[in-house]
Amino acid sequence: MRKKKRAQKIVFKSEKDVPLMAMSTGTMLHNKTGAWRNIKPVIDLDNCIQCGICWKFCPDVCIFVEDELPVIDYDYCKGCGICAEECPTKCIAMVEEEK
Ligand code: SF4
Ligand code: SF4
Repeated sequence: MRKKKRAQKIVFKSEKDVPLMAMSTGTMLHNKTGAWRNIKPVIDLDNCIQCGICWKFCPDVCIFVEDELPVIDYDYCKGCGICAEECPTKCIAMVEEEK
């Protein structure tokens, strides 16, 4: 039987040790990540208490506030569902994307 190896902590001593990876060096405005989505958040504004939590938690910064209400920019929303999970009134539903 093979002996299980113990996991070792990876330590990068300088940026030269970091493995090569894809990185963005410019604006992401042209990278419309909304095309990745298969479910999308839909806000029931009647039950929105305008707390701004969805805006704060969206990792894509694609929720903005217009007339004190949250608006989702679907060009960039990836459909991760974090906004729906964090919304205190549960007024954001994740619905299947129409193809
Ligand atoms: S589903 Fe994700 S990416 Fe889309 S608005 Fe909500 S938090 Fe942002
Ligand atoms: S988290 Fe929910 S209640 Fe708060 S602003 Fe967003 S949609 Fe409205």
